[in-house]
Amino acid sequence: MPRIAIASYVQESNSFAPALSEWRDFEQGQLLYGADIFSAARGTRSEVAGALEMAESLGDVELIGLMRAMQRSSGGPIRREVHERICGEILARLDAACASKMVDGVLLVLHGAMCAEGIDDATGDVIERVRGHVGRSVPIYVTLDLHAVITKKMVEESTALFGYETFPHVDLWEVGNKAMRWLLREAVGEVRLTNVARKLPMIVAAENAQTTHGPLADLRARFDDEQRDGPIRHMALFPMQPWCDVAEAGCGLVFVADESARARVDLVADSFADQWWRARAQHVVDLSNTDAVIAEALASDRGPWVLADSADAPSSGAPGDSSVTIAALIRAQPQHDCCTNVVDPDAVAQMIDAGVGAEISVQLGATSGCTLYTPAEVRGIVERITDGDFTHGGPGLRGQTMHRGRTVVFACGRVRIVVMEQAVLQWDRQLYLSVGIDPAQMRIVIVKSPAGFRADYAPIAAEIRILDAPGVCTPNVLSLPFTKIARPMWPFDEMT
Ligand SMILES: [Zn+2]
Repeated sequence: MPRIAIASYVQESNSFAPALSEWRDFEQGQLLYGADIFSAARGTRSEVAGALEMAESLGDVELIGLMRAMQRSSGGPIRREVHERICGEILARLDAACASKMVDGVLLVLHGAMCAEGIDDATGDVIERVRGHVGRSVPIYVTLDLHAVITKKMVEESTALFGYETFPHVDLWEVGNKAMRWLLREAVGEVRLTNVARKLPMIVAAENAQTTHGPLADLRARFDDEQRDGPIRHMALFPMQPWCDVAEAGCGLVFVADESARARVDLVADSFADQWWRARAQHVVDLSNTDAVIAEALASDRGPWVLADSADAPSSGAPGDSSVTIAALIRAQPQHDCCTNVVDPDAVAQMIDAGVGAEISVQLGATSGCTLYTPAEVRGIVERITDGDFTHGGPGLRGQTMHRGRTVVFACGRVRIVVMEQAVLQWDRQLYLSVGIDPAQMRIVIVKSPAGFRADYAPIAAEIRILDAPGVCTPNVLSLPFTKIARPMWPFDEMT
């Protein structure tokens, strides 16, 4: 019976975020040990659930849960002591699992765009440490987010890198399931897989790097046409999240393929990388002026207009405390219902002190130290107070409960502002539905997400636009203060 160890360490780093990520950011996400990682995953759409269900459906496998550490949302690089603590825990548990008998395989559920203080490639660091403990003969399979920064170390120290195939991400379960299926085959000697990777010197905004249309969709369609029954078992395109200021920044492509077919697969990889490079201009994002698009939405007779303030997306590492859309909506004095949201723990405390029904003036937003926007001065009524928890109902992370701390609905005329203590992913309509606001009934809905929101919001949206707003996750990558990336790099340099 093969013995497979599983660990999960998931965080997406934003080099431009105002603060390091701390232990409490993982406590507010998920910190699970041993077999608890399986009981917590059961019934969710996570990679661990997919892996678990594959192992259980095949039977005759011993799964050993090591640890799951998942940050509540993206953030700055991880404080070094926190990274060491998580790695130390994973490795100690791995050593214990191997003490009587070596494991036959390891599955690591990682993100891939993770930096720690002083370690730009924290993902490669985790894989390298695990490799150091199990040796070269034990397969290490890794699942990654599509926004991973693929590095030489990750490719060389892992056996196989299985990235998500979708953006918006709706295939976490499927990728975990598939990686486990191949890992079990490799663990018993049926196959030998390897990574065939390519990097492209370009940094692209998340907004036009989805798999539903554009260059990534074209590459996926070509793959399905040409390679369906070939030696390539998985193709992952990694457009990288663009706020990682690291030396190995750039888009990546990884084929997981039969080792015996490497020479053939190398040619396919070159051809796919070339196609992607030639399509790079399609990644340039069309942005809307915030005031102008709000006026356009209010003058139209359809709704909802879903406006993405992606520059302040917590899923990309922003603090979620931008006041830009609050100020713009209030300026517009809408005669239709609109909703937006902001992270501001001080304002939440003031509103709760005032109580439901109270009319007060508060300053909202810009509490993180981000200097790209200033607090908005607003007067309104405390409409509702909740504990802030909500469970994802849409396709991405269905079943996963998010904790945003105490949360207040603050009404300023027809504008409702959801004010929360902590930032959370904004992929799901439950962000609003859970506090009594139905996005489908709004004229304007603000979501702080570059693209992940589309899976749940597109079915109800009359229009979707990306705002040209200031923030640490602006899709205008040329405006970001990169210092470590290699040059030349498109679109910073002219390249042919
Ligand atoms: Zn992602």
